[in-house]
Amino acid sequence: MKRPHIMKILKVLKRAYGAPPGRRRSDPIDEIIRTILSQNTSDRNSLAAFAVLKKSFKSWEALLDTDTAKLARLIRHAGLANIKAKRIKEVLLEIKRRERRLSLASLKNMDTGEAILYLKSLKGIGPKTAACVLLFSFGKPVMPVDTHIYRVTGRLGLIPKDLSVEEAHRLLSDAVPKNLIYDFHLGIIEHGRKTCKAQNPKCGVCLLYSLCRFKDKIFYKGE
Ligand code: SF4
Repeated sequence: MKRPHIMKILKVLKRAYGAPPGRRRSDPIDEIIRTILSQNTSDRNSLAAFAVLKKSFKSWEALLDTDTAKLARLIRHAGLANIKAKRIKEVLLEIKRRERRLSLASLKNMDTGEAILYLKSLKGIGPKTAACVLLFSFGKPVMPVDTHIYRVTGRLGLIPKDLSVEEAHRLLSDAVPKNLIYDFHLGIIEHGRKTCKAQNPKCGVCLLYSLCRFKDKIFYKGE
């Protein structure tokens, strides 16, 4: 993957969708909960469930005292509620056990590789959640690969066909300049939501058309 090619794509994304919003560091426990809720559902559903949790508990410590069945009812908008409720509680309990408090502040002083290993050693935390926590809460140079990033970078030819999602995290994190990972991540997600949609990509109006290697693009003319 060539750096100039990535820089061209970034430039076009900025022109199409504007500069990404300024970076505000999120709370890492919030990030873990938000990302677990987002698994296999839309942003709208998972954000609604997260908002219910924020409203229902004064602190995440209070969530730990809540019965898992009640927690599942609270997050029902996000789907797979029983599994997600159990997962959230297990992860938070394990963090509290390891850190002796419900905090991931210790990640700040770890190098990126060590921090990834720490997060992935928590049951229920995969590469995407680990990358979201590290990028959005600690500003570490790791690319979260969600369904939009995987699909769009695949079509653009930035990752090889059939590359695993786990490998895509590694490849994209290494390929994109460290200080631009945040902008690239948000720009590609925006592109995936608005233009390079899963079912009917709007290739006919896509500003990345000439940079894209998707072999079927000419068959789709957009809406
Ligand atoms: S040309 Fe089509 S497939 Fe390629 S990035 Fe644009 S919308 Fe996606």
